Amino acid sequence: MSAQVIDGRACARALKVSLEADVTRLRGEGLGIGLATVVVGEGYSSKAYERRLRKLAEDLGVPYSPQVLPADISQEELVSRISELNTDLSVSGILVLRPLPAHIDEAAVFRAIDPRKDIEAVHPENAGLLALGVPRFVPSTAASCFHLLDTWLDSVGEDRADFYHRSLIVVVGRSNNVGKPAISLGYERQATIASVDEWADRTTGIGRHTRWADVLIVAAGKAGLIKAEHVSENAVVIDVGINPCIGQDGKVHMVGDVDYDAVAPRVRAITPVPGGVGPVTDVWLLRNTVTAARLLTGRPIEEARPALPGPTRTLLEVS
Ligand code: NAD
Repeated sequence: MSAQVIDGRACARALKVSLEADVTRLRGEGLGIGLATVVVGEGYSSKAYERRLRKLAEDLGVPYSPQVLPADISQEELVSRISELNTDLSVSGILVLRPLPAHIDEAAVFRAIDPRKDIEAVHPENAGLLALGVPRFVPSTAASCFHLLDTWLDSVGEDRADFYHRSLIVVVGRSNNVGKPAISLGYERQATIASVDEWADRTTGIGRHTRWADVLIVAAGKAGLIKAEHVSENAVVIDVGINPCIGQDGKVHMVGDVDYDAVAPRVRAITPVPGGVGPVTDVWLLRNTVTAARLLTGRPIEEARPALPGPTRTLLEVS
């Protein structure tokens, strides 16, 4: 058996098409919609991410303002730059890219973002709403994992609610960024959830847990962590990891946390890297930027969110 490949690029294209119409409508209404990213210092992955966001924002006609700040910027100066973005009427969504330098208090920076512009839900108010099951913004990477799963379930004709209710979702990695939001979204679907972190890997081994997964979401940032012996034959595997590796051609290539060649022949469905979670994550961030533009006009969250392609019953967002 060979796994079905869950095509993130196709899924992202469909999401983008449905978002385009919304952006056009909003611009017609004269709403200030714009994305600002804040990068402190220079890093390979943040540069690549910025390039992708710039292209996507251009395609969608969303003004994009990347702020690249020096690595030695002070905490006060950084917070003050965020305050300026908070009051900038042309910016509806603010994304502060990690990692921040060691001398910066990350939590204080996140608290400085206006919660209505906090499109990755890093402000405690938004992280709390997500944990309570009433998110204002669904963080883009976790949203991407479940949007891919939902879309795949539709494509194979499985009822989403029935699938999630009887499934064990194992999430490998427990970051505030990806793992914890994914756990919250799994709870919202009334699935059974297990969270595995590196301590399990160091002690009993992660396979003891991951082998039971109906859905395995892997976000550890460790190239090839998940091998064939870590998965069951009927599993659906969502690989979040993006790890730069030097290929035989001497160039940098991105690989996932899953050893794709070994795992794909064993499982029911799998996302590739690249071309899986990443493309949907990018569009989702722009989608949250559109949601934020509407929220800033005082509209309730149910009205602020753009429609999703496919069936209307999404199970993704709680309203
Ligand atoms: P992180 O470093 O903040 O968190 C990683 C988590 O994995 C931590 O909880 C850590 O304890 C855990 N972990 C580390 N080694 C482990 C092991 N051997 N076994 C089990 N758990 C282990 O990283 P993050 O921000 O959550 O990102 C994780 C990966 O996802 C990275 O490769 C990152 O580049 C990628 N990522 C991809 C997207 C996307 O859109 N595809 C978005 C964000 C992050």
